[in-house]
Amino acid sequence: MEKYVNAFVNSFMGSIDWTWKSIIFEVPWYTNYFWGLTLISLIVWGLEIAFPWRKEQSIFRRDFWLDAFYMYFNFFIFAIAISGFYKFLGLLFNDIGISSKSLTLLDLSAMPMWSQLLIFFIILDFVQWFTHVLLHKYAFLWKFHKVHHSVKEMGFAAHLRYHWMENIIYKPLKTLGVMVLGGFEPEQAYIVHFVAITIGHFNHANIKITWGPLKYILNNPVMHLYHHAYTLPQGTYGINFGISLSLWDYIFKTNYVPEDSGNLELGFPGDDKFPHDFIHQNIYGFGKQKKE
Ligand SMILES: [Zn+2]
Ligand SMILES: [Zn+2]
Repeated sequence: MEKYVNAFVNSFMGSIDWTWKSIIFEVPWYTNYFWGLTLISLIVWGLEIAFPWRKEQSIFRRDFWLDAFYMYFNFFIFAIAISGFYKFLGLLFNDIGISSKSLTLLDLSAMPMWSQLLIFFIILDFVQWFTHVLLHKYAFLWKFHKVHHSVKEMGFAAHLRYHWMENIIYKPLKTLGVMVLGGFEPEQAYIVHFVAITIGHFNHANIKITWGPLKYILNNPVMHLYHHAYTLPQGTYGINFGISLSLWDYIFKTNYVPEDSGNLELGFPGDDKFPHDFIHQNIYGFGKQKKE
C-alpha cells in the first residue's frame, strides 16, 4: 500500500514541479505545454483579429475570460490534481499484469517517423470522434458535455471550455489507442498533441476556413460551428462530431453544413438556465437528472 501512496504523492509533486519548470523554460521546448498553448492561442487570436469571419463579434467576445480560464485549468490545474490518481492506476494495472505492451497489436517502431506520427494521429482522432458521439448520445454524459456547448459566441478559446470529467471520459479509449500501437515514444505524443491543439483552436476560431476539397478530411471552423448549433436537424442528437478530422463524419454520415454565413444561434435548448460561472458549470453534471 505504501508503494501506491508514495507513487501518488510523487507523481502529484512531480506534476507541480514540471508545470513550474515549464513556466520558467526549464523543460525541452517541444514538451512545453504552458508556453506552447499560450503561443498557439496568441497566434490564432491574432488571426481572428486580423481576419474576422463574424465582423461584429468583439475581440473580447462573450465569456472570453471564462474560456481562457478553462484552457489553463484543464491543461494544468486539473492535470496536476489527477496525475497522482493516474499514476496509482498505472501501478495497479502493472501489478495485475497489464502493461502498456501487453495489448500491442501494431508495432510502429520499424516504420518511418512520419508514418508513425500519421497513424497515431488518425487512430487517436477516431477514438476521440467516437467518444464525442457517446457524449452526445447518452444523457448522463451529455450533462457534462453541455459545458462545451454552452458557448454562445464562438472564438478559439472555446475549444478548451469543457468539463474536467471529459478528460476522464476520453482517457480510457485514448489510453487503449496508445496501447494498441506499440513502439511509440512520448516525444511523438507531444508533437501529435500540439498539432491537435492547433487544429482544435482553428475549428473554434472566428475565421472562415473551409480547406476547399480537403474539407472531407479536415475539420474546419464552418463545420464545427454547426456542431454547436442551437437547433439540430430533426431526428439527430448531434452532427459534425469531428475533432481534428472531418473524415469520420462523412464516412458515418453525421456531416451537416447547410450554409456558411457564420450566423446561427449557438447553444442548446434550455441553455438560458445553464449556469454561467465556472464553479456551477462544474457542479451541474453531478446534479440530479432533470426532465428536459
Ligand atoms: Zn459536442
Ligand atoms: Zn466545439
